[in-house]
Amino acid sequence: MIELPKLEGETAIFGLGRSGIAAAQALLASGNDVVAWDDTPLRDHNDIPSRDLTKDFGTPARLLLAPGVPPSHPIAQAAHKAGVKIIGDMDLFQLARNQMDNVCVIGITGTNGKSTTTALVHHILSENGWAVQMGGNIGTAVLSLDMPSDKKTAYVLELSSYQLELAQDFYADIGVWLNLTPDHLARHNTMENYAAAKAKLFASPEKMQAVIIGCDDDYGTAIADTLNTHPQLIRFFTSTADIEGASYELGFDGTHLLHNNKAVMDMTQTYALRGVHNAQNAAAAYGVGLVLGLSPDSMAVALTDFAGLAHRMQPVAQYKGIDFVNDSKATNSEATRCALAALHNIYWIAGGRAKDKTPEASLAGLDTYYGNITHAYLIGEAATGFATTLAPYMPCTIAASLNEAVDKAAQDAQDETQPPKQATILLSPACASFDQFTDFEARGDAFIAAVHAWIAQQEVGA
Ligand code: ADP
Repeated sequence: MIELPKLEGETAIFGLGRSGIAAAQALLASGNDVVAWDDTPLRDHNDIPSRDLTKDFGTPARLLLAPGVPPSHPIAQAAHKAGVKIIGDMDLFQLARNQMDNVCVIGITGTNGKSTTTALVHHILSENGWAVQMGGNIGTAVLSLDMPSDKKTAYVLELSSYQLELAQDFYADIGVWLNLTPDHLARHNTMENYAAAKAKLFASPEKMQAVIIGCDDDYGTAIADTLNTHPQLIRFFTSTADIEGASYELGFDGTHLLHNNKAVMDMTQTYALRGVHNAQNAAAAYGVGLVLGLSPDSMAVALTDFAGLAHRMQPVAQYKGIDFVNDSKATNSEATRCALAALHNIYWIAGGRAKDKTPEASLAGLDTYYGNITHAYLIGEAATGFATTLAPYMPCTIAASLNEAVDKAAQDAQDETQPPKQATILLSPACASFDQFTDFEARGDAFIAAVHAWIAQQEVGA
């Protein structure tokens, strides 16, 4: 657990999910006064003092909001009215970090690829002998991470726009911006607000050792422009389009990662990092390695043996020329676009709770890759709307459940694909999972179970 300094006055915490509980526990363990509240009663956390802050706000010295609580929430207004500072868990981490020696904090943000890049940086640094703590929006809440060891320690932190929006004092030694495409607009309302929340990672560039910016979209390019006097600005650009005037230190030529236009590693050898989007993640991680003085060879080895993360274009099984790929984490069209771009002869399972008001908007940008899709199987709330939109371009089947979609897709692929041709059954929903599953992990696990059940059935029948 992160050891926090003793703070003046009471810290009120609103929202006791993973990070709120971690904050309460870290504050209590360091002898601080804490009071916490959540709309859902907390049966398992009797050790955390509670008060219904919505009825009795009291006079806390600060209010820590859980990332899921929007700044427009009435509790935030109560804090503003009382003149109480609102903070996020990253600000508490910063107080602890100010007292740590020999650590490097790496903050990673972007719409897509945060978890993959965070895990990649963790992997590259661990393989190069660093002590590494990984957390934030991935896995362990930042305040539940361990204190640094005697070795030089890296804190590799995945940062969501929600966390950054709340952060007031946090800065990273190395900040990574991957990309920005429409997502989470129900919370942020506009792309400008969403971009501004993420850009808070670079609010204090003078304190940062390096800034590593993906310039594949206009938002990243604009951030890089504002940081162009930073002594260690590393831009990466993975589009293979010849864009006039694009300047960058790390690039991608379709097969190789480039550093200052020189090929430094063969990306065709990285099975877990297929697709241009993963070249973006690899370039970002490579940039971090460059800043920390790792050798190109050691980074190439680590990138090549990276095993990948579950639910992100995860290879599940291969059966008689059919590849089953679990991309349940693709909850927006941009993530799904990347999967469709990287694969062929796809039997595509999509749908769930749509992210946008119209099916056209929820499927934005995918049409370029419709040619890679052989048949679409549509599930969940979005099924009918998606089927209507997609029907002019491909055969569409509405399935009552994910299991049914897997069975139909696998059967069709088996009937229609003659070796040596390969088919891919791809779950890449372009939707949230909450209409049918508790989260994207449960959806991905259900897909994996359905795949294994289908294969087992074939083997019994064979
Ligand atoms: P995040 O943590 O930002 O949600 P993940 O690494 O978990 O990102 O990947 C989420 C989804 O986005 C997966 O479907 C994955 O295949 C896809 N993806 C991964 N990296 C990128 C990227 N750089 N650009 C677009 N999509 C990506």
